[in-house]
Amino acid sequence: MRDRIDIDGISVSPDHFIGGQRVTSAETFETRCPFDWDRKLADMARGNAETAALAAEAASAAFPAWAALTAAERGAYLHRLADLIEANVEKLAMVECLDMGMLLESLRLRVILRGAANFRNYADLATNHEERVWSSRGTLNRVIRMPAGPALIITPWNAPFMLSTWKCAPALAAGNTVILKPADWSPLSASVLADLIAEAGFPAGVFNIVQGLGAELGNALTSDPRIKRISFTGSVPTARIIGKAAAENIVPFTAELGGKSPLLVFADADLDAAAKKAAGQFDDSGQVCMAGTRIIVEESIKDAFLEKFHAYTDAQVMGDSRDAATTMSALIHPIHADRVLGFIDRARAAGDTIVRGGKRFREGANWIEPTLIVPKDNQSEVVQNEVFGPVLTFQTFRDEAEGVALANSTAYGLSGIVYTGSEERAQRVGRLVRGGTVWVNTFLVRDLTAPFGGIGISGIGREGGDYALDFHSDLKTLQILE
Ligand code: NAD
Repeated sequence: MRDRIDIDGISVSPDHFIGGQRVTSAETFETRCPFDWDRKLADMARGNAETAALAAEAASAAFPAWAALTAAERGAYLHRLADLIEANVEKLAMVECLDMGMLLESLRLRVILRGAANFRNYADLATNHEERVWSSRGTLNRVIRMPAGPALIITPWNAPFMLSTWKCAPALAAGNTVILKPADWSPLSASVLADLIAEAGFPAGVFNIVQGLGAELGNALTSDPRIKRISFTGSVPTARIIGKAAAENIVPFTAELGGKSPLLVFADADLDAAAKKAAGQFDDSGQVCMAGTRIIVEESIKDAFLEKFHAYTDAQVMGDSRDAATTMSALIHPIHADRVLGFIDRARAAGDTIVRGGKRFREGANWIEPTLIVPKDNQSEVVQNEVFGPVLTFQTFRDEAEGVALANSTAYGLSGIVYTGSEERAQRVGRLVRGGTVWVNTFLVRDLTAPFGGIGISGIGREGGDYALDFHSDLKTLQILE
């Protein structure tokens, strides 16, 4: 076990949490603060094949007893963890802010509390679940959800705490034990969560957290035959690798992947609200999977829209994420900032027009100015591929059919945003836009019981509500002769 680290008065363990114990590895990886890159926050234990085997063993050993509890008994642990998250909002918010760069205010007021809500929602959903029972063909039929086994949860760096809780809660509520592997660019909030899991009194091995790199620790975990579910959120290339490992062991696998979502604005829309929301896509420096990164506006309102959009974008403030005046956080890592700049450079070279931004805010800093690009045509790389940075494209359409066709013209299908003043159009276009979630005149409002997931290369499977509980269960049909 390594010594705990003091981060602005908050004690954080750099180690794994396996079988209810802190466990370390010989090697480490470092994590730094995105908005103060010279500041190293921690050297984290760098898990390997041995770590993966230890975690799989612990999760397997704990499974039978956890699965044998009633949903209400498991739910009591989840509610206890939610209580502790609520009691530790300030600590979790500060650690996540320093490690990932997300704005402190937003973490304190919304994001961390959503983590608690995720556990409560699944505790209650699983407890209140009513088995489907019906008579047919002379038999009484009953559909039973049976816990599936140890579940592996792999999360990305961009919303580590919220996504970890969103993904682990249904697995635990369904009666599975969990191994969570957070991303190595933002590992710290998961380690704080491990302390809260211990404090909540979860039985040893029910909820394990391991730290490390995808290619070594991640690979070892996905190929372990003791893992019975893999729930992944991250990029398309990684999903292809994990999908192959899941196929090898015939393990159900869900993938929540990238997006290139449209933000369609019709002439009958509340223009100010639409322009404000479009400029709001630069929040978190565009590191949001569901961001509406393709702004597609009806030709007749182009100038009026752009005037408002630029005014709202001018008001974006890049700075220290702890500062209440900051509205746009830094990019997570210089490697990622360079990747984003690579997209912009290639767009420029290919003949796209950089309307604003396009460069680092300050030499050596992790912010890139909010960037708007008018593509040469719809096949431009910045239109077709996820950038995951503060880069939006701008296109226009003449009629509804052309707008919808542009909206649906990429291989992705995670979400869509539509602005219109017509109820009729909201219903019609909302159905036509290709996306697992389509918002009309709003964005990011979510009901935790609704299905969530992507179409096309944006993913496989659905999370949320009963959909995730079904995924984490082996569904059995019990038929008894009447
Ligand atoms: P990534 O695919 O590089 O990494 C995601 C996770 O997978 C990390 O924990 C990483 O360590 C792990 N990993 C990498 N290689 C692995 C391997 N071979 N085996 C097992 N695990 C491995 O993604 P990222 O850069 O961390 O995240 C950004 C991506 O995530 C973007 O594409 C974004 O759109 C997507 N995302 C999607 C959603 C959604 O809900 N659809 C939400 C957030 C982020």
